[in-house]
Amino acid sequence: MFEKILVANRGEIAVRVIRACKEMGVQTVAVFSTADAGSYHVQVADEAWCIGGPRPADSYLNMDAIITVAVESGATAIHPGYGFLSESAEFARKCRDCGVVFVGPSPEVIECMGDKDEARRTAKAAGVPIVEGSDLLSDADEAEREAKRIGFPLLIKARAGGGGRGIRKVESLEKVRSSFQEASSEASSAFGDGGCYMERFISPAHHVEVQILGDAHGNVVSLGERECSVQRRNQKLLEESPSPSITQAVREHMHRAARDLARSVNYLGVGTIEYLYSDSDETFAFMEMNTRLQVEHPVTEFVSGLDLVKWQLRVAAENELAFTQDDIHIRGHAIECRLNAETPDFLPSCGTVETLHIPGGPWVRFDTALYQGVTVPPYYDSMLGKLIVFAPTREECVRKARSALGEFVVEGISDNSELQLDILSNDAFISGMYHTNLMEHLYE
Ligand code: ADP
Ligand code: ADP
Ligand code: MG
Repeated sequence: MFEKILVANRGEIAVRVIRACKEMGVQTVAVFSTADAGSYHVQVADEAWCIGGPRPADSYLNMDAIITVAVESGATAIHPGYGFLSESAEFARKCRDCGVVFVGPSPEVIECMGDKDEARRTAKAAGVPIVEGSDLLSDADEAEREAKRIGFPLLIKARAGGGGRGIRKVESLEKVRSSFQEASSEASSAFGDGGCYMERFISPAHHVEVQILGDAHGNVVSLGERECSVQRRNQKLLEESPSPSITQAVREHMHRAARDLARSVNYLGVGTIEYLYSDSDETFAFMEMNTRLQVEHPVTEFVSGLDLVKWQLRVAAENELAFTQDDIHIRGHAIECRLNAETPDFLPSCGTVETLHIPGGPWVRFDTALYQGVTVPPYYDSMLGKLIVFAPTREECVRKARSALGEFVVEGISDNSELQLDILSNDAFISGMYHTNLMEHLYE
């Protein structure tokens, strides 16, 4: 195992990784921007280095500054968390060139999965069904030609997209040209890559994803799936495991396809294969692969009993998995609610936390970097924390989530806990048969 690890992230995920390191006897190095000098991840790490100004480009995306700190501090591995540099093949390659282990798959694997149009080809080659769509679109003329072939409605999607950004729904041929330009320029400014492709719009659909873990010895296992159909603007809000919408036969098929795909690229580390699932004909299709730890990984930890971050570090250190697929037993039910800093009108909120009360009790987990008195800066992701609960049945788990959310108090900053309570009380949600359009219905 590594003696010292640098955590190249902030917020709850940096704290989550630092905790795992401490439990494994690994020294931790935090990095922070000048806006984060008072942040919790800086306080819990063994040492902390300032790497630049508040803007992500100056600090958490500053590859050279981060690698320099790793080398100077004697850290032999870098955990990238999620977001920021976690899916950057360039960063993974720079780490390798400097003799530092990037905790994640190789730059080559990130490349073949990172561009979403390339990932579609990789999935297809591995025999995994993909959503009917196009390759990279070279211009608006090609977009029109492909749109006619695919049919409406369809989505224009940024190949570098993430977090639900860079996606445009198109209802008719007249709108293809303008939507293509819009999606492309939004992707250029958000991701520095304007490349777009197209997919048929599947509706009603479920977002169901499979958690994968692979080691350096050719072993790949899947650790249950997550239903992530509670979304607003294509961004996840609440996740649960197991998925309440799929049959056991579909589950087995989805998991096998995910393992085949991971094996086909010699996948190392944790990763997630995202599918769209249509319950009307029980078909699913590959949407994308996230080559990193997922925000919603804790629901999988509850139902599998495995610590994904610790396994991520072990396989990065080339340890072999201590279990096979047959040893994995998914038990009970887990739900995660993402608590975001936002007003009831979905406007971002920031400020100083004046009062904070975090829910507790058995099988209640709250992952956050909040503490009373902390100032939440405006520069980063709006997520304040995640409430994750576990119970033997889905019914009890939903009640537990409601009960725990009711205990959560934060003052000084607006949060979306009321919205989460509305979701947990919604009939379609409670029935388990809800689709990605649930939030639209909730507002009607
Ligand atoms: P998950 O399924 O893990 O939630 P998301 O796509 O929602 O994945 O993204 C996880 C986090 O990473 C979010 O905080 C999101 O804002 C951020 N993120 C995702 N993609 C990008 C990107 N290309 N650039 C910057 N941040 C990103
Ligand atoms: P991101 O990289 O931003 O996570 P995804 O490709 O995973 O982008 O899509 C985000 C969400 O958008 C999905 O979870 C799903 O709800 C919706 N979506 C994406 N592609 C399609 C599609 N072809 N049909 C219907 N909904 C889609
Ligand atoms: Mg996605």
